[in-house]
Amino acid sequence: MSANAPIIDETHDPALRSWVQSERDCVDFPIQNLPLGIFCRAGEAPRGGVAIGRYIVDLAALAGSGLLEGEALAAAEAASGPALNPLLALGTATRRALRRRLSALLREGAGERTAIEPLLVPMAEAEMHLPARIGDYTDFYVGIHHAANIGAIFRPENPLLPNYKHVPIGYHGRASTVRPSGTAVIRPLGQTKAPDADVPSFGPARRLDHELELGLWIATGNELGSTIPIAEALDHVAGLSLLNDWSARDVQAWEYQPLGPFLAKNFVTTVSPWLVTMEALSPFRRAQPPRPENDPRALPYLWDEGDQASGALSLTLEVHLSTAAMRDAGLAPHRLSSGPATNMYWTLAQMVTHHASNGCALMPGDLMGSGTISGPDDGSQGSLMEITRNARNAIALPSGETRTFLEDGDEIVLTGRFEAEGYRAIGLGECRGTITPARG
Ligand code: CA
Repeated sequence: MSANAPIIDETHDPALRSWVQSERDCVDFPIQNLPLGIFCRAGEAPRGGVAIGRYIVDLAALAGSGLLEGEALAAAEAASGPALNPLLALGTATRRALRRRLSALLREGAGERTAIEPLLVPMAEAEMHLPARIGDYTDFYVGIHHAANIGAIFRPENPLLPNYKHVPIGYHGRASTVRPSGTAVIRPLGQTKAPDADVPSFGPARRLDHELELGLWIATGNELGSTIPIAEALDHVAGLSLLNDWSARDVQAWEYQPLGPFLAKNFVTTVSPWLVTMEALSPFRRAQPPRPENDPRALPYLWDEGDQASGALSLTLEVHLSTAAMRDAGLAPHRLSSGPATNMYWTLAQMVTHHASNGCALMPGDLMGSGTISGPDDGSQGSLMEITRNARNAIALPSGETRTFLEDGDEIVLTGRFEAEGYRAIGLGECRGTITPARG
């Protein structure tokens, strides 16, 4: 059987409920999810945890509790430090053993309740860190409608470049500036040149944008010079987060040719702090939408029937914007977009296999962005560049304000929710960032 095939077990039973009361009304983190993260309280050392309702199970404390053994114990011990890389390096079976044990310990009626309760930390008291030490960050471009929408702005006659349907396009981003949700987004300074200007100038970027993306966390890597067969690709993936690839469009327009994104992208990238594991996602895997009849077949190294049968996700992604004035007035955030993650032309497995196809070594904790996920229609586009047609159409907000690109004080929140008939829904949590004024 392909390692890409989803496995459903007792941890996905929709009837399961936890004795942790806040799990009952928590839409993102019911007992069927159990995502991994790194947390601490003020003054404490960061360490691994698992979200349940509005609490975090302290994995370092759990490892010392005597309640675990075998692979589940090995997993909790590997997650006791300030980054999940050692746990990710242990692979799928070890993660699954921890998930099964936690599911048993946290479910209603579990005899270990009184022993676990002291190991719970309220999320409200915790600061979240990045789930892993990111050695490398790569951003793909698999959202085909985003590629077409952006292409149409610059090349109306030929929106999709000729390589798009043959090769998963990506670029190497910068790992040092990936930050967890809540980190301030300082408006970058940059060199720009307006179309009607004779010479470029330097100053705060004026066309600051968000990009709605999924972040994929690598579990086990591959040796330099080796490859990852497509049928085994998802065995190398730990799970997913939300990712906002903040982009300075005016900087990007001036610098991107001939080598692609550079300073327009690497001032900060925000990820949601909870890694939702591939095990938790199993019930929400779907057949990849068939390619249109006239599209090229993928080359054999990128094609696996198992991946095509279950490589897409039943996931709805949303973006909300609130301005400082809206928050002051108590107005609810304005929904900028909502759409399905099935708008990905290439699957997660294809991204991973392609990345390693030249012998490039992937490492535990590496992060891959999907690229902006947009739908073909208004209301489903994952960036302001698309929504406003590159600032031609301003967005009217409930405060009476308008926006083309982001102003200081604006907050963007990404959310994602997995839903499937016969299963309890789970979520990715939040990826949040507020624009603060440029420095200098
Ligand atoms: Ca991007």
